[in-house]
Amino acid sequence: MSALSKQKIIIAGAGLGGLSAAACLIQDGHDVQIYEQAPQLGEIGAGIQLSANAMHVLNHIGIGEAVSAISVRPGAYVFRLFDTAEVIQTFSLADEHQALHKAPYNQAHRADFHDLLVARVRELSPGCIHLDKRATGFVENEDSVTLNFADGSSASGDLLIGADGVKSAIRDQICGPVQAVYTGDAAWRVTVPTKDLPPNFIEEVMSVWMGPGRHAVCYYIRGGEILNFVGAVEADDEPDESWTAKFPWEKFKSDFEGWNDKVQTIIDMVDRDACYRWSMFKRPRLDFWSTKRATILGDAAHATIPYLAQGAAMAIEDGAVLMRALQQRDDSVDALKLYEGNRIDRTARVVETSDANKKLFHLDSVEEIRAAFASRNEGDDRNEWLYSYNPLTVELI
Ligand code: FAD
Repeated sequence: MSALSKQKIIIAGAGLGGLSAAACLIQDGHDVQIYEQAPQLGEIGAGIQLSANAMHVLNHIGIGEAVSAISVRPGAYVFRLFDTAEVIQTFSLADEHQALHKAPYNQAHRADFHDLLVARVRELSPGCIHLDKRATGFVENEDSVTLNFADGSSASGDLLIGADGVKSAIRDQICGPVQAVYTGDAAWRVTVPTKDLPPNFIEEVMSVWMGPGRHAVCYYIRGGEILNFVGAVEADDEPDESWTAKFPWEKFKSDFEGWNDKVQTIIDMVDRDACYRWSMFKRPRLDFWSTKRATILGDAAHATIPYLAQGAAMAIEDGAVLMRALQQRDDSVDALKLYEGNRIDRTARVVETSDANKKLFHLDSVEEIRAAFASRNEGDDRNEWLYSYNPLTVELI
């Protein structure tokens, strides 16, 4: 039970971050109510990678084994050249990741993972997820915080968590509205049923193909039934911060002209009416995330380009650290300070490393790619600071 025992906590947003925070906090004895703008719960049909630093939290909330059961555990992380597929560097995942970090590296379908989170939260607290509730802003005083919704209703509690994603209304109110800036990158994302691919099409690894101005990622999900493909391109046309913007298949095909045969096979096999391309936006680093009774987590606080595959993992870590901060302080202001103080630098490092990976993965020539990888060891680096972090045990200072 927390030092700040049985707080009434309101969460705006039932995405991966809001739901995992909710499960942590309900398990810890708090009364949590979640308000989601969408009329229905769900996630898009793409993949998500969940490394040990996130899996510790999912184990803690009781869904670790279920997540592993719907996932693929890739054997390795493999960096390849865009045209020949020559392997430039590789590091082990699977057993080595488990042995080093005491939790698996999983690759799952986002909708499957979201479903597991929703089921767990509902099991812990039936009726705590409220749909069709778009948060517009909040009012706080010495004793409570009230979240207002677009339909004219409101909800009050002791604490408010804005887990309302990259366009967060809660962040705008806490930190001031800051214009999102287009990063210049957009991500094609498609899936292909494995049964439709040639036999033994590609190993069960996390593949990154690197080439001038773009890179592609592919890995299996849903126990190997589906191949997930993300094609990240530098693009200056029609930016739209939407997961559901469709673009012509012909554009997708031409973006990867001259790339390896396996990339061509995937692009040729996709549903031509389901080529989604998401333009990526960023906001500058924030120096604080909280007021006296309100804070933010996940993409609301630290949206990143996905070139380290850690955005959701950071959101999941945030919820666990927030839970522990409430355990360790008697006062909500101190607890929120402890929380953000332990999260801002780590999440900023993820954002910066993701930005640096854009340069690394998109180098202009094969010689430059070879030279850049000759002087680095991606596996050692990530094992040292990224995957080794356990949000449930790291000292909060
Ligand atoms: P969201 O998932 O955006 O959830 C926010 C929720 O709040 C939504 O349900 C939304 O409807 C709701 N909402 C918004 N506004 C309001 C409002 N005003 N009132 C009420 N509700 C509201 N991360 C990884 O860890 N691993 C990966 O492999 C990975 N791959 C990625 C690949 C791509 C191509 C992209 C684009 C991202 C990837 N990410 C990955 C990042 C990850 O998807 C995000 O960081 C993560 O989904 C953020 O979760 P969140 O809960 O903070 O926000």
